[in-house]
Amino acid sequence: MEEIITRFPPSPTGYLHVGGARTALFNWLYARHKKGKFILRIEDTDVKRSTQASVDAIFEALEWLGIDWDEGPYFQSQRFDLYREYIGKLLENGHAYYCDCPPERLERMRKAAMDVGGKPKYDGTCREKGLGPGEGRVVRFKSPLTGTTVMPDVIKGNIVFQNAELDDFVVARSDGTPTYNFVVVVDDVTMGINTVIRGDDHVNNTPRQILLYKALGADLPAFGHVPMVLGNDRTRLSKRHGAMSVTAYRDMGFLPDAFINYMVRLGWSHGDQEFFTRSELIEKFDIDHIGKSAGVFDPEKLTALNADHIKATPPESLIPHLKPFLAERSIVDPDPEFLKGIIRTLNTRSKTLIDMADGALFYFKDSIEYDEKADKKFLKPAVLPPLETLLSELEKLKTWDETGLETAFKATMEAHDLKLGKIAQPVRVALTGGTVSPGIFEIIEVLGKDKSLDRLSRVIGHIQGKSEG
Ligand code: GLU
Repeated sequence: MEEIITRFPPSPTGYLHVGGARTALFNWLYARHKKGKFILRIEDTDVKRSTQASVDAIFEALEWLGIDWDEGPYFQSQRFDLYREYIGKLLENGHAYYCDCPPERLERMRKAAMDVGGKPKYDGTCREKGLGPGEGRVVRFKSPLTGTTVMPDVIKGNIVFQNAELDDFVVARSDGTPTYNFVVVVDDVTMGINTVIRGDDHVNNTPRQILLYKALGADLPAFGHVPMVLGNDRTRLSKRHGAMSVTAYRDMGFLPDAFINYMVRLGWSHGDQEFFTRSELIEKFDIDHIGKSAGVFDPEKLTALNADHIKATPPESLIPHLKPFLAERSIVDPDPEFLKGIIRTLNTRSKTLIDMADGALFYFKDSIEYDEKADKKFLKPAVLPPLETLLSELEKLKTWDETGLETAFKATMEAHDLKLGKIAQPVRVALTGGTVSPGIFEIIEVLGKDKSLDRLSRVIGHIQGKSEG
């Protein structure tokens, strides 16, 4: 079977947005699934709108998503010689011609058509003139005047276009620069692309591109036009619905694997399975199951899926993702073993990496500040005796593990005839400063003996201070 070759060709006129990321993902997954090739191409022929900052932002987002490419990045701006050569080919084999119609006349024609609600169309004035190159002349593609062009589409089925609707579009402007549809086809043909998955906002370009393939004697790729991603009001996803930039989701604490899982599910299904690891996606993704209807972007679902991925990811693999969030909170270079233990106490209770970083803060504190309400409610003189017992029981422990901790707590509960609940909350406030946290045994185990005892001694001093004052 022929090797599958897909591509992602972003225009660097802004950051990589959610819809673009999904297109990239579909092409990447399909290539990986088929053990084919995925090519990155930067469509920067629009020099006015293309910027290096956007190119960098796109690379950064792809890197975060874990989308790697086998060839490229190619830059269209560096391929003008090739495009010129192909313009020459079209002119040579009679599929294109020079046109010297003055722009003012074309503009008048365009306006007149629009005024009566028609489609602006070139009237073919220069089609048979046999003009050669010259100042101010564009090159137009000679479209068939009759018949139809059929776009076979793996998602939408066949779409039929009337050739009469497709005019003799410009392939090279008067300054010699090639136009969009033309360079896309030259690139796709010369790069051997045989599968084009892209947003269905490109459907109207495709018949023109198909005519170009035919004129160049090239085979058509398989086309798959994916429905747009919608917002919750079922209009096309835009800034109004929330962040559009992919890296904004990184900064909000989403895991790349969760994000790709969610994005893929926005237009593809595998039975009713929702959770997929990256390797499962590669194993199962196929274009046959890309849906015909548009997916609705739901940040809540994305967040729920993120929580599932945080839970399912081994703590050591979460470390590199969590570290930047800790660094933002002035925790730099934490001990990896300590951090692994911390993550184990938080990974079932964190929806995002921000939750996790916030939840981890108390572990790193030198001294705990007690939440005012918690202090008032739980750090009362009555809890001093059990806390003192607990401290001495813990000091005695030889092994700092769950069994040891249970023994120390049991002894304390028995000595004071108290239920665990009565001791647990004051201990929690002593260790974390607040009333919501992972289980106290887990915390004590991860904090280790020195820090735990230190925090308990401090709380005892704090309560004593109160009764004296
Ligand atoms: N450069 C185009 C875009 O960013 C993609 C064109 C294509 O997929 O053919 O929308």
